Amino acid sequence: MSSPAKKRKLNNATKNEKPQSKGLEYFFSKQKQNGGSPAAVPESSPAGVDEAPLTDEELARKLQAEWDKEAAQMNAQNSNKTKITETQEKNETEEPATVDEPQLEQPKSADPVAFFGGKKTLALQSAGMDEDNITISIPLDEPPLTFEPSKYIDQLKDHWYKDGGHASYALLTRCFVLVSGTTSRIKIVDTLVNCLRLLIEGDPESLLPAVWLATNSISPAYISMELGLGGSAISKALKQVCGLDSRSLKTLYDKYGDAGDVAFEAKKKQSFTLRKPKPLSIKGVYQSLVKIATTQGQGSNEIKQRIVDRLLQDARGGEESRFIVRTLCQHLRIGAVKTTMLIALSRAFLLSKPADAEYETKDISSLAKLRKEELAEVWAKAEETVKACFAKRPNYNDLIPNLLQIGVCEELLIRCGLALHIPLRPMLGSITRDLSEMLTKLQGRDFTCEYKYDGQRAQVHCDENGKVSIFSRHLELMTDKYPDLVELVPKIRGDGVSSFIMEGEVVAVDSATGELRNFQTLTNRARKDVEIGSITIQVCLFSFDLMYLNGQSLLDRPFRERRELLQSLFTEIPCRFTWVKSLDATSAESETVLDFFKSATENKCEGIMVKILDNLPDVAYMGGDDAETKEEEPKLQIPKSKSKGKAKAKSDNGDQIEPAKKKSRRKALLATYEPDKRLDSWLKVKKDYSSSFDTLDLIPIAGWHGQGRKAKWWSPILLAVRNEESGTMEAVCKCISGFTDVFYKANKAFYDDGSETGEPKNTRLQMPSFIEYSGPMPDVWFEPQEVWEMAFADITLSPTYTAAIGLVSDERGLSLRFPRFLKKRDDKSLEEASTNEFLAGLWRKQEASATTAGGASKVAEEDEDAE
Ligand code: ATP
Repeated sequence: MSSPAKKRKLNNATKNEKPQSKGLEYFFSKQKQNGGSPAAVPESSPAGVDEAPLTDEELARKLQAEWDKEAAQMNAQNSNKTKITETQEKNETEEPATVDEPQLEQPKSADPVAFFGGKKTLALQSAGMDEDNITISIPLDEPPLTFEPSKYIDQLKDHWYKDGGHASYALLTRCFVLVSGTTSRIKIVDTLVNCLRLLIEGDPESLLPAVWLATNSISPAYISMELGLGGSAISKALKQVCGLDSRSLKTLYDKYGDAGDVAFEAKKKQSFTLRKPKPLSIKGVYQSLVKIATTQGQGSNEIKQRIVDRLLQDARGGEESRFIVRTLCQHLRIGAVKTTMLIALSRAFLLSKPADAEYETKDISSLAKLRKEELAEVWAKAEETVKACFAKRPNYNDLIPNLLQIGVCEELLIRCGLALHIPLRPMLGSITRDLSEMLTKLQGRDFTCEYKYDGQRAQVHCDENGKVSIFSRHLELMTDKYPDLVELVPKIRGDGVSSFIMEGEVVAVDSATGELRNFQTLTNRARKDVEIGSITIQVCLFSFDLMYLNGQSLLDRPFRERRELLQSLFTEIPCRFTWVKSLDATSAESETVLDFFKSATENKCEGIMVKILDNLPDVAYMGGDDAETKEEEPKLQIPKSKSKGKAKAKSDNGDQIEPAKKKSRRKALLATYEPDKRLDSWLKVKKDYSSSFDTLDLIPIAGWHGQGRKAKWWSPILLAVRNEESGTMEAVCKCISGFTDVFYKANKAFYDDGSETGEPKNTRLQMPSFIEYSGPMPDVWFEPQEVWEMAFADITLSPTYTAAIGLVSDERGLSLRFPRFLKKRDDKSLEEASTNEFLAGLWRKQEASATTAGGASKVAEEDEDAE
């Protein structure tokens, strides 16, 4: 399930098919053309509703009569079951309506059919308010060591039982409300832990769906399950369910920006329902999403629309509607991303277990007595286990059932180990400023430098039957994209190899000479269902790692050994399959390394990847940001001009460098393959971008009308970093540099305000609530969709921008001087854009080097329009 925040690149997307989160106004403009009417009777009536052409009021009366009858029968069995209540939702404070009011009024009495003034509107409300009260009264954000699920479970179960037996969506909603209402990571984790514990102890079956919903997805990346809902489906549902006309809805949308917030407001204004609401359960909501994603073929749009309508009809009150709509838009914004969820799961399973499970849980009172550091250690150990499992098998469908059975233990690592045709999360490299920083970090170690090819990372799985799966860096299945690689596998697989998982970079090459082609060439290759005969862009797989061989994981083997196996057991096929070009070296061989780096960049590579070859636990790790360690380190210099013979590494003052004798507090770097970790045992050294050694991956969020020649385009463009904690985007700079006219034109067509076409696309007029920006207002806001790699001269403390505020200064944020567009990062989702934390880290690094160089940072005016 892709999302603006989590824009998954699926194998089945065609070249120009970008997942788009269209502004609702785009759909309104279409609906206006079709003549939308206020509170129209649904085109496709909800299940069970007679298709007779009744007015809304007649229909509601008819239904009410039916429900009254039904309610009377049910009352006989259980006098508590169905209630008609006031529509005013408890615990929700109505905001004064400053927008155009919809044509329906709130009823003021509990009378099922109430007539007010001259307007005669109907008033019905769902049963189940009791449950809301119970859920709301649970202190979900309490510290888990004082929170006692057992106090609430019986009562909750009682209510869940009445509504069908499974945990209510109200519980998850309550958790979302609390989580999105705080920026405190501790509170977010605590709330999630408590909610998960209630489910583990009260309704374990609902745990897995709850985890999918909270992580804003319905399946792992490698299983293609897309909701495929347009914004129009949601606006249609809002109109039908909440009785709004297009104008009222548009006004709400313009005011609130976020579709979930619109749903919240719209639901508050709803005064009747056209079908008897059924309280939503977590399981039910998840199943509805799966149904939306899996419904295909003729009539599927209608079926999907009915499901969306139903979800919104059944949502109780504003908050449930808000989160249902955010889920449908695939942008939940609760900050419970993968890492937070894994941490919460590890803690929840240390403290709770299902009634029928036999594993040991921790005694809460003993944990409460531990010192802070001791407790942190207990949490950290469990976290590490759960994260390691998920890195090797990133699928909650595997993790959760096992946790429910055996809790957090060593066996979990075995049960959730590597498996063929399930991609592991790749190991990542840390960025270094330049070669000398790399050499400094790796002093005393044997390492290998490899060409850093500019292509697409591929994880190739092959089982003993010869079945091949190929996965991308983001774990999407892309076997269909590379049938030529699939065909290659039997030829490269040596005699002794039955099954394997290998990693490499797929690069476009000249089929005759094998000469490397740039990344752009590779992107011209079709992404789906490629026929071998139709391939025009030939690729070569440059393999660089082997993680699994003949039924055994190699993750714990040192890289030298894995590489040895990779090179000895597989067969090279010129221009189609080979190994990455490499050079083994040590920090003393700086000149040879420099030559290798140069040859990499001359051969269209982005730079080099440097990898530790052996595990040497007794050698101190010299890298990292630890100031204490840094001070002790002499810095290695790369020779400016090449001299004959191997130059000895020198420190700043010219002294020869010996491997550091003093032991650092840090652990030695390991040469093992660490899935999903970005460690210094893999270092990226990229070619200089001339103005800056670091680049940022920013999100374009708004634009101004250009001047003169650029009058028709957006220029400057406002860019933002992500704040992972709050789920917001923080504006960091305006940019007008590095764009070509062709780019500007395409950019305007993509972020179209509709001024010429009449059909706005990917834009909105109001600042969305998830943007942090207080400078001069742009002319248009972009729907965040893209990640752009940006160079810059340096980072400045800013009087205007609030990016990373609170991280380096309480009063000022950070901005960039001379920002320059480098390229679009089509391979990156919004979730992978640079964060405020990362920006703050770069600033600190810059300040540290400025201080050693005798400089100091000043508050600078951003160089907004430098070109
Ligand atoms: P990352 O993948 O580290 O999150 P990123 O998406 O910004 O960062 P880069 O900084 O370009 O990517 O570098 C990492 C990528 O380089 C790898 O994911 C891989 O696709 C590619 N690569 C090319 N050559 C190699 C190599 N020899 N070893 C490892 N990765 C390589």
